[in-house]
Amino acid sequence: MFIGTPLISEDQIQKKVKELAYKISADYANKDLLVIGVLKGSFMFFSDLIRYIQTPLKVDFIIASSYIKDSSSGEVKIHYFPREEIQGKDVLLVDDIIDTGISLKVIREKILSMNPSSLKICVFLDKTERRVVDVPVNYTGFKIPNKFVVGYGLDYHEMFRNLPYITVFKKEVK
Ligand code: 5GP
Ligand code: MG
Ligand code: MG
Repeated sequence: MFIGTPLISEDQIQKKVKELAYKISADYANKDLLVIGVLKGSFMFFSDLIRYIQTPLKVDFIIASSYIKDSSSGEVKIHYFPREEIQGKDVLLVDDIIDTGISLKVIREKILSMNPSSLKICVFLDKTERRVVDVPVNYTGFKIPNKFVVGYGLDYHEMFRNLPYITVFKKEVK
């Protein structure tokens, strides 16, 4: 399956993922790390990232979907919330992409209300131009322009998540 020229190639992705993981390993040495992935989009980035993090950790997931109400607010529904204890843990939240920021803002506040000892956010992609709410992001893979992208976990109607690279989605070449 081929739907376009990669915007970010498999090699670029793997190099960046290792870079991020080594930075995270250094920052979390001797910490009680709990890595929480936001499904479904982060599943590929998440599984690549954690295999290079060189500090003991636990994993869990959060499943959320957002419904945009207007340009600066949306309703975020949480379908699954981590079962691992969050209180007192150093939590690293991992997501595929930050766009408006609405979903991560809501998820961040929900996790903060469970009193983690710290909370940091790692996103694979950042579409800075589209941000409508402020969310502190600690680790970013790539900043990308305002284009709809698929691959490496990201979907168009649930398809193309399995591509090992990121490409701009174009309907005509589907
Ligand atoms: P938010 O606008 O709340 O920051 O992002 C919500 C979600 O929209 C992301 O987690 C992601 O699932 C989806 N999204 C935003 N931009 C893109 C994109 O370019 N491609 C894909 N496939 N999903 C996106
Ligand atoms: Mg996401
Ligand atoms: Mg999606």
